[in-house]
Amino acid sequence: MKTVTRFAPSPTGYLHIGGLRTALYCYLYARHNGGKYILRIEDTDQNRYVEGSVENLINSLLTCGIINDEGPKLNEKNEVIQVGESGPYFQSQRLEIYKKYLDKLLEEGKAYYCFCSKERLESLRKEQMENNLTPKYDGKCRDISLTDARKRVANGEEYVIRLKLPEDKDIIFEDVIRGEVSINTADIDEQVLLKADGFPTYHFAVVIDDHFMGVNCVIRGEEWLVSTPKHIILYDYLGFDKPKFAHLPSVLNKNKKKLSKRHDSVAVEDFLQKGYLPEALVNYIAMLGWSSKEGKDIMSMEELIEEFDLKDVNKAGAVFDIEKLNWVNSHYIKEMDSEELLKRVKPFVKRDTDDETLKMILDLVKEKMEYLSQINELIDEIYMEAQFDNFGEEEKEVMEIETNSVLFEKMVTLLSELEDVTQENVFKCIKSIQKSEKIKGKALYMPIRIAINGVMHGSDLAGIIAILGKDEAVRRLKEAMKQI
Ligand code: GLU
Repeated sequence: MKTVTRFAPSPTGYLHIGGLRTALYCYLYARHNGGKYILRIEDTDQNRYVEGSVENLINSLLTCGIINDEGPKLNEKNEVIQVGESGPYFQSQRLEIYKKYLDKLLEEGKAYYCFCSKERLESLRKEQMENNLTPKYDGKCRDISLTDARKRVANGEEYVIRLKLPEDKDIIFEDVIRGEVSINTADIDEQVLLKADGFPTYHFAVVIDDHFMGVNCVIRGEEWLVSTPKHIILYDYLGFDKPKFAHLPSVLNKNKKKLSKRHDSVAVEDFLQKGYLPEALVNYIAMLGWSSKEGKDIMSMEELIEEFDLKDVNKAGAVFDIEKLNWVNSHYIKEMDSEELLKRVKPFVKRDTDDETLKMILDLVKEKMEYLSQINELIDEIYMEAQFDNFGEEEKEVMEIETNSVLFEKMVTLLSELEDVTQENVFKCIKSIQKSEKIKGKALYMPIRIAINGVMHGSDLAGIIAILGKDEAVRRLKEAMKQI
């Protein structure tokens, strides 16, 4: 049987790092098995809907190379279109389908109308909490006959539809990651399936949709594990084949708490906007709860597809470690072909810089970059000018070295004579001064660096001079000469 997975986010804003991992695992598992990966939008909670979030979600997934076979996609005009034969892929567009199966459950006595008011449910809940009981519905409307209930509905009474549970029955299922899970129906609530606003709840819609979309492997966050028994009951009631379930461990922050938008950076788009490369992000995220058998840290999407298996996913929560992500990202930056790196970094560069110069800058600083937007600080460092009036003790001391006037003068002459101001040629100039004037070590490099940038440390000095160019470097050296 062909593997069919799905990622089913709710459009409440942006793609969460944990969501990216779920989507990635769904994608990898489907591709590894030559199957199909669907994207479905779970928008039954109209109150939580955020304008533009579907486009956002699709964009982030697309950028990361997690391409769905079916479901919503964006066309050239950036409009959402739907592709595939088991749509619509927005739950809000499937209300007819849900209604049909709710009617069936009602007819068969597997679901019932409930007319309890919000106030009653609230006071019931309060009472149960006060008595240290798990809050759940007490079944007051359970035995209202369907005919009576339908009359009340026809009279305009407000209602919801609830799942009717078998009494004292163990619901047992096998989770690919967690093993056997068993729960008694006494510990399950008679879940609302249809809300008063006419929309189904997630619990009902998810079962119907997974079934009709042919999903046979449900991969999702472990927060849904406790809901799965309700889903199992629905599968059985409706006579549907059950999919395989895999509940992924939570993504934790460094305090071992679940990653949350209040305390942590969690939006994939923010990481992309900072200049984390999509392939590096995917590579790192794949390792949150899974690892390659050979212990590889750097893996392309193709390699991940080749090696990924759900049964190798850990049970324990996975800590999102920004240092490790930075390491992975900087690895990709260092290894990247220079033309490609130039193309990727350009959108981040604020200073007006031509391609030739930008390439020289990248060669000089790419080792230091953890993410692409850092390019701006690094460029600023290169172009920074000495503020002679504001020098500290260390800088002043360097400016007082006796050999400085010879050094600066010589440097000006050699640079002015230089036809091709490359890093290598500038380096040769400095070396030749070392030889001819016998100036070495601290007395050689430090004063030039101070004259050029006004600081004690930075990227390779010859490289910086080559980027600034002959005229600018000479001007700065002459300026320094005036100070001594
Ligand atoms: N809409 C749910 C969520 O946003 C999906 C849960 C599931 O995959 O079944 O987490």
